[in-house]
Amino acid sequence: MTPNINIVPQIMRDVIELDAKRDDMTLARPFEYSATVLCKSPRQVQLERRHKDEIEQSGFFDNWYSFFGNAVHDYMEKKLNNNDKYLVERRLIRFDKPIGGTEKDYRRVGAKFDAYDKESKTLYDHKTITTFMHGKEMKDEWVHQLMINAYFLEKEGYPVDVCTINAIYCDWRDSRLQYAQPGDYPEAPCASFSCKAWSMQDREGLYLRLLKNHVDAENIPDDLLPFCDREYCWESPAVYAVYRPNATKAMKLCKSQREAEEYIKFKNLTGDVRIQERADTRRRCEKYCRVNNFCNQYKDWLAKNSPKTEETETEE
Ligand code: SF4
Repeated sequence: MTPNINIVPQIMRDVIELDAKRDDMTLARPFEYSATVLCKSPRQVQLERRHKDEIEQSGFFDNWYSFFGNAVHDYMEKKLNNNDKYLVERRLIRFDKPIGGTEKDYRRVGAKFDAYDKESKTLYDHKTITTFMHGKEMKDEWVHQLMINAYFLEKEGYPVDVCTINAIYCDWRDSRLQYAQPGDYPEAPCASFSCKAWSMQDREGLYLRLLKNHVDAENIPDDLLPFCDREYCWESPAVYAVYRPNATKAMKLCKSQREAEEYIKFKNLTGDVRIQERADTRRRCEKYCRVNNFCNQYKDWLAKNSPKTEETETEE
């Protein structure tokens, strides 16, 4: 089944269209890089900038999730704005050159933080995420963005001791919690992912290193841009799916053919049980990178691999 725009009420289409326009307007900002952009890969950023007029406009369903994120941010800002304990949604701009850069390498960089608790010296970033993240570590991109924001904020005279992602689980259901094993499901619809703020020296080192990677990439032709690493591409390794006869859902996903065969033996499965190899996937490249059509790295990878889009659920 695919999403059906025809059943979406016009009022919601109008709202989401407005939200997308607001995001477009934010592109006309008075700085060359933001903390968020610095944390993306230079390849993706350069391709987005160079091909912005050729990139297909994102549709209603692409903008649906950012609509939730924007709505939550707007509401939190409104509610915290008059609370003296917090500084809320400030944009800070600096003019810096990367490590080893010259006069021509100075760039304006903007960092916007969501909230800062003046008493506990905690910097917050609100994120709407799914319960899939429960129990997982903070992503590197989250940590980097927080550290750059913390660098900017402390330079303005607000010391930061702790950096926290204020996670709001948009798919949380108390009915699921009721039947979950202890620890398998979040016990509340929101949670914190926190880490200690790095030293100012380390924050500055990260900031200027990322700035250098992006400034260097500005003059590199498309096909020679530094490659995005596997982790950034959200690569999942190949798996070997074991199916019962006539089943469409795999009963087990194994890491190797041998593991799949041993599983069949261990379970004493007989008859037309089959093992199907599923190729690696690069989920970000495939679904979440708007420049995949212009990216030779992804095209080359596709030529060598044929990702399958079939279901990944198993029976157990
Ligand atoms: S398609 Fe993949 S490899 Fe290419 S820029 Fe996007 S994330 Fe990077």
